[in-house]
Amino acid sequence: MHRNGWFIASVAAIIVSGGCSAPGGAKHDPASAAPQAPSDKLYEGRYLSTSEVRAKHEWEAERSIHFSKLVRGNPKTKRIALTFDDGPHPDYTPQLLDELKAAKVRATFFVIGKMVDAHPELAAREAAEGHEVANHTYNHRRLPTLTDAGIEQELTLGADAIRRAIGAPTKLYRPPGGEYDDDVINVTRRLGDCMVLWTDDPADYANPGPNVIVERTMRAVSNGGILLLHDGAKESLGILPELLAGLKARGFTFVTCSEMARERGIITTGGPDTWKAAAAPGAKR
Ligand SMILES: [Zn+2]
Repeated sequence: MHRNGWFIASVAAIIVSGGCSAPGGAKHDPASAAPQAPSDKLYEGRYLSTSEVRAKHEWEAERSIHFSKLVRGNPKTKRIALTFDDGPHPDYTPQLLDELKAAKVRATFFVIGKMVDAHPELAAREAAEGHEVANHTYNHRRLPTLTDAGIEQELTLGADAIRRAIGAPTKLYRPPGGEYDDDVINVTRRLGDCMVLWTDDPADYANPGPNVIVERTMRAVSNGGILLLHDGAKESLGILPELLAGLKARGFTFVTCSEMARERGIITTGGPDTWKAAAAPGAKR
């Protein structure tokens, strides 16, 4: 596999045997789980830290475990992707969209299917204003706790909700909490999806204080960064104009995750439904 020093095989579609983690605990189908209302409970549970995301990626690369995954963009260009998870949220997403429009910045929204079904007009507005609407599963359950069938159901139901709301498909998804295991990888391959993680997490969901979010972001952000933010984080809303101005002042421009993925070697032929990962050794990564 091609290796270019900074980063190993950010995207590839070579299917290999073996996995990336030990067998997990008991799995269950989502149908048997108690309904979970969209709420602050979304933020319960552990999220992988940025360093864990990176370490896991390197661990997989060392073992030649490849699947379609975007963990950062091109480190040589000052392009970054803003991502907002867990919406659309009726109390926050409209203001968020107003702020992005005022700043002329496009972002990627990783939306939860049942939130989309509850507020399809907000997902439609996101798409109409030039943002990317991507999949964050239907119920926001932690995928490694589910059976293969449950994982597939969460991803396909989430994608279906997006298609209903905006009239276009997506093959990009982000696993809740960044958590995935061998089964999630295998389902990702089978569906032809691309998993998107992140490089920067200022932990806005914990509302650490507006200045802290700005400071954490500005300190850590780098070329090709993927920033993890949340629709429902009140403090992110308050500081978004300042954050965007600060990032622009540093020379960063903004791309969607699809644009970033394409640049990293995930290519499309004929539209979003035909996403394919570039598998050719030596492909620019
Ligand atoms: Zn989430």
